[in-house]
Amino acid sequence: MAGKVKNCPHCGKLYADYGAHMCRDCEDKMREKEAEVVNYVRDNPKAKILEITEATGCSEQLIKKLIREGRFEQVGVKMTYPCEKCGAPILSGKFCQTCKENMQKELQKQAAGVVAARQAASANRGQGMHSKDKGR
Ligand SMILES: [Zn+2]
Ligand SMILES: [Zn+2]
Repeated sequence: MAGKVKNCPHCGKLYADYGAHMCRDCEDKMREKEAEVVNYVRDNPKAKILEITEATGCSEQLIKKLIREGRFEQVGVKMTYPCEKCGAPILSGKFCQTCKENMQKELQKQAAGVVAARQAASANRGQGMHSKDKGR
């Protein structure tokens, strides 16, 4: 038996589900689009993401995907997109290294705080709440 058949999320056409997220037609179109975007960036290495989306009609998502895949570096353009927290230029993920480290520290602090709070709570009930350290 042939594999499952799915509706393409882009054009609605039925296609054989061979592990792709869209039908072959749309996949071809997307490849073309990607090539177009990469070519545009190669010709306009200083273009901002917004300018690229406007010029090529592609989504920001696609540009980020291409950045992550290193497609622009392949054509000699170092493209970045802004960290979702501080806006620093990044090449992968959602946040820059600094924000990632800060968030990790924050998480560790919270985890340590939870453990400490539990220990304190079981050791001497009734004591005041551990005040959260603010600022930073
Ligand atoms: Zn399709
Ligand atoms: Zn950041």
